[in-house]
Amino acid sequence: MYDYLIIGAGLYGCVMAHELAKRGKKCLVLERRAHVGGNVYCEEREGIRIHRYGAHIFHTSDEEVWRYAQQFVTFNHYVNSPVANYMGHLYNLPFNMNTFRELWDIVTPAQARAIIDEQRKEITGEPRNLEEQAISLVGRDIYEKLIKGYTEKQWGRACTELPAFIIRRLPVRFTFDNNYFNDRYQGIPEGGYNVLIDGLLDDKKLTGSIEVRTGVDYNELRKDAAARKKILGRTEGRTPEVIYTGAIDAYFDYEFGPLAYRGLRFETDRFEEENRQGVAVMNYTARMVPFTRTIEHKHFEFGTQPVTYVTREYPADWQPGEEAYYPVNDAENSTLYAKYAALAKAEPHVHFGGRLAEYKYYDMDDTIRAALDAVQTLS
Ligand code: UDP
Repeated sequence: MYDYLIIGAGLYGCVMAHELAKRGKKCLVLERRAHVGGNVYCEEREGIRIHRYGAHIFHTSDEEVWRYAQQFVTFNHYVNSPVANYMGHLYNLPFNMNTFRELWDIVTPAQARAIIDEQRKEITGEPRNLEEQAISLVGRDIYEKLIKGYTEKQWGRACTELPAFIIRRLPVRFTFDNNYFNDRYQGIPEGGYNVLIDGLLDDKKLTGSIEVRTGVDYNELRKDAAARKKILGRTEGRTPEVIYTGAIDAYFDYEFGPLAYRGLRFETDRFEEENRQGVAVMNYTARMVPFTRTIEHKHFEFGTQPVTYVTREYPADWQPGEEAYYPVNDAENSTLYAKYAALAKAEPHVHFGGRLAEYKYYDMDDTIRAALDAVQTLS
């Protein structure tokens, strides 16, 4: 009775459901959590939307993805300009003329370049890890104050043991420009990310259909024939195609051992104060502060409420079964992933996609792009 079973109602699963229903397919979306939206899900308190699974700022240079998202939401004019707090001193991010001025009291780009060029000399040849990559990009001063502590907290390991590509996400500029992203488009959906998700899952104007069930763990369901029948109904001898967006190792029962992830823990406080930190995202870059950032959610949407909510984000070790946030794409885990990917390729009627199934550090726009590309190959 269903053409497609979509496992996971995160961004990838929801785009898939929408695109398949647009093509006339009957879709059933099964979500393990009690709500849809995956990690973009927001919870509203006193008119302030809390990014419950960490701050999400939509940014892209992909015209098609930008237009695609705007079918469902209007984006506000939020521009991410986080501030780094190192031992009580504030520095603008990403690394730009404002940061260099604050660090070295210089005035011109040439002065900043001269300092960085001098400091980056200590790295010769291709950077072999994140530490070398960071120093070769911005020099040792910035590495020590704004990168080392933050990165080692976030990833739970030394910068010398982390892949260089992680830090290449961050722009370095010799202009006075605090925009964290280089992308052409950026913003937060008006009304929040839930509007985007609800729009994707709304099948009223589509020829196919989308049914959603939350609180259903597909990997458990697969082991239980009776429960499976109850949820899926009679399949009339036909096996629905499966779009699986959960963790790839969990699908294969951790046959080769678990893939590593970095976890996160959030603690949110309410303050009887209109404006607590003056910015949505403050990064705490010193190793001794146990959290990496504090998020004052109202600033994502220019909130004017008399109260505010601030979340501290703590990086955490991760055990299989817990919420997985960041894939640890080091050599060991990449090799392990390749083994699971080979199994996935051979699995009939199942398409694996999204951050957890592809074990990729996807941003939201990458996720939408990947789903839009994949659907072309399916239908
Ligand atoms: N990073 C850093 N200092 C900062 C912010 C970021 O060293 O103040 C580095 C760190 O290694 C981090 C990477 O840049 O893992 C990517 O940061 P980003 O903010 O893009 O991570 P996300 O928002 O995806 O958690």
